[in-house]
Amino acid sequence: QFRAKRQEVYRSLRDTPAVSKDGKPVSLLMNAGLLMDLPNVMNSGAAGIGLFRTELQFMVSSRFPRTGEQEQLYREVLDSVEGRPVTFRTLDVGGDKVLPYLRSEQEENPALGWRAVRLALDRPGLLRAQLRALLKAAADRELRVMVPMVTETREVLQVREIIKREVSLLTRFGHRIPRSLALGAMIEVPSLLYQLDDLMKAVDFVSVGSNDLFQFVFASDRGNARIARRYDHLNRAFLRVLRKIVVAAEAHQTPLTLCGEMAGRPLSALALLGLGFRSISMTGAAIGPVKAMLLETDIGKLEGTLLAEICKSYGGQTIREFLMDFADSNGIPY
Ligand code: PEP
Ligand code: MG
Repeated sequence: QFRAKRQEVYRSLRDTPAVSKDGKPVSLLMNAGLLMDLPNVMNSGAAGIGLFRTELQFMVSSRFPRTGEQEQLYREVLDSVEGRPVTFRTLDVGGDKVLPYLRSEQEENPALGWRAVRLALDRPGLLRAQLRALLKAAADRELRVMVPMVTETREVLQVREIIKREVSLLTRFGHRIPRSLALGAMIEVPSLLYQLDDLMKAVDFVSVGSNDLFQFVFASDRGNARIARRYDHLNRAFLRVLRKIVVAAEAHQTPLTLCGEMAGRPLSALALLGLGFRSISMTGAAIGPVKAMLLETDIGKLEGTLLAEICKSYGGQTIREFLMDFADSNGIPY
């Protein structure tokens, strides 16, 4: 009953602009990966798709999806969002994302292994086919492509070269190409924290994959239930990491998003607003609750006190209580 009532409230917020109490617009985007997610983009009132996980099509298939099948899916995605931006992530397989038909050797540490962009650059045929499918599907439209598990800036530059080659091939054969093309990197591997300036210069946008970034910064397996509650995403050390990324992105005016699970939990999303994030991407069901939080949040008031809070000593300690107090005393639902 209570739940149904809340759902009703969230539905009524669908067309309410996503603006904070003190007038700051925030882009609330949705994560998606399959056709069945698409109606939800429009129903949830999301501003677009901040993370399209292209590997899901590969994971539900019993063989490699053909280039034409990939192209068709990407076109349907673009058609369904009525002109809103979609960020396609190139194939992120390996680690916790297994393709039964992709033969690979047993790895002792698959999360740290031959995966994502590493696999893509070693098997450029697969990557080229996917990029071609994306370029064709986005003909005359905006194409946004993002690369997972980047560890060295060089890896995105290599992907950019491959894209350039595919673009010139398609043009030569008379195909129409996208009107604009933006290439981004996911920040998921801690090595990037020490090359943020190089990275920001090399890409058109960045997106924090906080699930993996947290896993690697805290050496804490994201799929291991035994340790899942041991370290809080809202601890000072991790929030300092996120703040460092915000500062670098602002300095270079590189558009920044965060697309891990924490974006979809209102209290964590509140922390992200205070850190300076103005674009976050989450599951469709979270858009309503996060927007309800946003509408009641005075970001200006939060910012100063949150930044002071994360600079206090006890780096490992969580600021969850501080955030709950802030929310409670300001009438912010979470
Ligand atoms: C992440 O790592 O935070 C992320 C968004 O990507 P995925 O969960 O698909 O690894
Ligand atoms: Mg990830």
